[in-house]
Amino acid sequence: MFDLNEYSHRRLNPLTGEWILVSPHRTKRPWQGQTEDSKVETLAEYDPECYLCPGNKRAGEQRNPAYANVFVFENDFPALLPDVPEGGLNTEGLLVAQRERGISRVVCFSPNHGLTLARMNVTDIRRVVDEWVSQYRELGSLEFIGHVQIFENRGEMMGASNPHPHCQIWASESIPNEPVKEVRAQREYNEKNGTCLLCDYCELERNKGERVVCENKYFLAVVPFWAVYPFEIMVVGKKHRQSIDKFEDAEKTAFAEILKRVTTRYDNLFVTPFPYSMGFHQKPTDGAAYEYTHFHVHFYPPLLRSATIRKFLVGFEILGSPQRDITPESAAEKLRNLSETHYLDSL
Ligand SMILES: [Zn+2]
Ligand SMILES: [Zn+2]
Ligand SMILES: [Zn+2]
Repeated sequence: MFDLNEYSHRRLNPLTGEWILVSPHRTKRPWQGQTEDSKVETLAEYDPECYLCPGNKRAGEQRNPAYANVFVFENDFPALLPDVPEGGLNTEGLLVAQRERGISRVVCFSPNHGLTLARMNVTDIRRVVDEWVSQYRELGSLEFIGHVQIFENRGEMMGASNPHPHCQIWASESIPNEPVKEVRAQREYNEKNGTCLLCDYCELERNKGERVVCENKYFLAVVPFWAVYPFEIMVVGKKHRQSIDKFEDAEKTAFAEILKRVTTRYDNLFVTPFPYSMGFHQKPTDGAAYEYTHFHVHFYPPLLRSATIRKFLVGFEILGSPQRDITPESAAEKLRNLSETHYLDSL
């Protein structure tokens, strides 16, 4: 039998149809578990300079209200705007452009500047989940919105300029590249097998166990077989739900809980606030049925071996295929063995 821990190989991502190169022989060196002498720092609850803190001034003359829980506002520097005249360009199929309309919003998770998802309590994260549900519904119901992308960029390494706990929503007229690939793959899988790709994958990973990080009654957190980033995680629902607004009450709370557990494990890995881009993939909102789409979350963290050593997608990876050394199975094992008590809460 071919040994995935020994020999270089490529793995298929069935959600995108793309391949990733795995070179396990390059990691024969033992795990260092470097944690650096990270300055165990906590941020103040309020920062007078932060444009997301309650009562503070934002760009222009806008001022945040003295909000007590979750706060949503239209992005002051929106990437997408609702009013764009019709039009575009198509020159011999080579110079092609299309008008793109949309809405960009910011969701502050908490008035407390110093918190993160990992350190918020489940009740407060549940309020954020409820807001995600209503944003998805509201924006998705607009006639010109075909897709609602909810995502969080965390950490300076990911280009997040502000540590205040928040996420962004970019709701767009057209469906962006990654969801286009995943929707197509899920549809083709469903046509071929008559079942849902992610329902089947979730079941398979639960049975195998080796890539599972943690789970609760409704959700599974797994390092995908095809993970590109060293400690990439996918959170997938055990029940088939096309979108977050289809969750039952207990499911929404379980979702808040699994997000807290995953982000706590991340912070504990290198005893540092763990940077990542995280986002949801769910049913597009252009009016088609998409019965075969299955809500899931991707966490893409850049860190490799310590709080400062990051993975770069360069060279072969941008010209050829992504590549990794440590296997998804050993990454999952490390994440699985971590404590779920945040290092700042166990001081
Ligand atoms: Zn703040
Ligand atoms: Zn499913
Ligand atoms: Zn996805």
